Amino acid sequence: MNIAGKIALVTGASSGIGAATARKLAAEGMTVGLAARRHDRLETLVSEITKAGGRAIPLVTDVTDLVSCQEAAKSLIAQFGRIDVLVNNAGLMPLSSVDSLKVDEWQQMVDVNISGVLNATAAVLPQMIAQHSGHIFNMSSIAGRKVFTGLAVYCATKAAVTAFSDGLRMEIGPKHNIRVTCIQPGAVKSELYDHITDADYRKQMDDLAASMTFLEGEDIADSILFALKSPARMDVAELFVLPTEQG
Ligand code: NDP
Repeated sequence: MNIAGKIALVTGASSGIGAATARKLAAEGMTVGLAARRHDRLETLVSEITKAGGRAIPLVTDVTDLVSCQEAAKSLIAQFGRIDVLVNNAGLMPLSSVDSLKVDEWQQMVDVNISGVLNATAAVLPQMIAQHSGHIFNMSSIAGRKVFTGLAVYCATKAAVTAFSDGLRMEIGPKHNIRVTCIQPGAVKSELYDHITDADYRKQMDDLAASMTFLEGEDIADSILFALKSPARMDVAELFVLPTEQG
């Protein structure tokens, strides 16, 4: 499928997988709305994409806020008339043991990893339904497929993303011609681990990073491109993408 000229909204575009995805989509000729909270990062990425001959616009967005997501979608629709692709990528992973009772961090994960996906989906869906076309990518994780110690809440949020992706695909694929792909990466080099406040789990992640070659954000972006470029008749429902050494 030719994707040049299509319009995308990427959440969590200010770093890591989201920024890599935005760069790749723009390099393919898509216009990309960059949604995240850090305005300076978005401006820097817009400059980089523009210099490379692509088109991107910054959309300062907090995915925990439905109205903020709706404003981002509205801005893209006002400028370009449609939204073809949503990449629900924004996420947080502040690991800790449940008995540490870091309840604020649990809530942040629920708000960003689950509500954020629902909010951005709700913001974009009316336009995709009106177009009778679209493709929604939801960033789950290996942690949505199996549970790890210290990741109980994170795993719960990613299992929710996987379940929602399945239900969403079943409901909107046949009825509205909108494809849904759930991406499930293993370990990827990014800023995700920087927010871990528990010293033991921070060390555990540092040790993991030292023990194997992590994926790059670009590897996940390429997986998204594979699903996106597939023929319209084909919906890649899930992509489970691991570092070779993670097994
Ligand atoms: P990063 O920390 O580099 O990126 C996270 C992104 O989420 C940032 O752009 C951040 O932007 C954004 N974000 C966080 N909170 C909000 C918010 N309230 N509103 C809008 N944007 C927000 O990590 P990754 O690139 O690794 O993570 C991207 C996704 O991939 C996440 O969903 C993560 O769970 C998932 N994933 C990552 C893996 C890994 O090993 N790295 C493995 C499996 C899945 P800002 O702070 O500017 O708002």
